[in-house]
Amino acid sequence: MAKDINKYVRECIARLTPYSTARDEYQGELGIFLDANESPYENGYNRYPDPHQKALKGQIAALKGVDVENIFIGNGSDEAIDVLLRVFCEPREDNVVSIAPSYGMYKVAAAINDVEIREVQLGEEFSLPVREILAAIDEHTKMIFLCSPNNPTGNSFPRAQMMQLVEQFDGVVVVDEAYIDFAEVQSLSSEIAMHPNLVVLQTMSKAWAMAGLRVGLAMASKRVVELMSEVKYPYNINVATMQIVSELLRQPIDDKVAEIKQQREVVSKALQASAVVKKIYPSDANFLLVEVVDADAVYDFLINKGIIVRNRNRVKGCKGCLRLTIGKPEENEALLKSISEYEKSIIR
Ligand SMILES: *Cc1c(COP(=O)(O)O)cnc(C)c1O
Repeated sequence: MAKDINKYVRECIARLTPYSTARDEYQGELGIFLDANESPYENGYNRYPDPHQKALKGQIAALKGVDVENIFIGNGSDEAIDVLLRVFCEPREDNVVSIAPSYGMYKVAAAINDVEIREVQLGEEFSLPVREILAAIDEHTKMIFLCSPNNPTGNSFPRAQMMQLVEQFDGVVVVDEAYIDFAEVQSLSSEIAMHPNLVVLQTMSKAWAMAGLRVGLAMASKRVVELMSEVKYPYNINVATMQIVSELLRQPIDDKVAEIKQQREVVSKALQASAVVKKIYPSDANFLLVEVVDADAVYDFLINKGIIVRNRNRVKGCKGCLRLTIGKPEENEALLKSISEYEKSIIR
């Protein structure tokens, strides 16, 4: 049965007459442009950017194997998360369901939009609690946020379990795939054609090495992309960013991704031998979640050595854990050396 996502859209958005830019009203490329109050003096940036990002979307569509009309480009995935909340959730009335521990932005973006978030704790070994998620849903639930591979736990959830939620819930299921390029599993983007309520988020910030440029993607049904495009700022991606991203997308990342995956195994193996380390969680991402004997002490010791990791000790479900991003081989070596120095310092 086809799902009607329109039933889940906020009333004010369903009624919205979106802003029409000068570039929406006249779309030719040649001519004398006296329609947008721009400066006529060329410096490379005097014209407004394409609000529909046609050229960049074409390039990304080819890369990801989805149609242009199924792509939303945001100022980071963080913009996509915020825009989704604004499209679907009535503040103080609707709610969203997410997993925990997971990426912190779902909670912050929900709070900023004054939308209740119901966090469902992951199960044993950070497994996806499908039954509990379904039990948390009520008539005001508009979205479910999943993250796979999950941050900070590093694991991917079984495709069949995520698709079970997409099928059993009529509202929007968002699957954040920020780390998919480091995983062995396939993206859910191939399912968007069949599932109008599925939104897959990806980003240029991790494997694509463009965190500083702020570009994130939402891949979804044409209707969801339309709604998101009406709600975003018209010129959310600037001319300079589009040019640089377009250039960098032409440079393959396969070798670097392969090296990071290989280094992830090197670091994991070395840590297994350390008396400081209690547990290393399996990772499909470019980081390792590692439970250590005294997380705060290890964290401080590393800081003193000039090595900064993410202390997750105070995150529910991650007690005693540090999240270690995989760096270049020499950086990882420095990390391992410092951890073995710490080990010696506590034995003595
Ligand atoms: C890093 C990360 C992102 C990326 O966000 P951007 O705004 O695109 O930089 C998104 N989701 C998760 C889970 C992340 O860890």
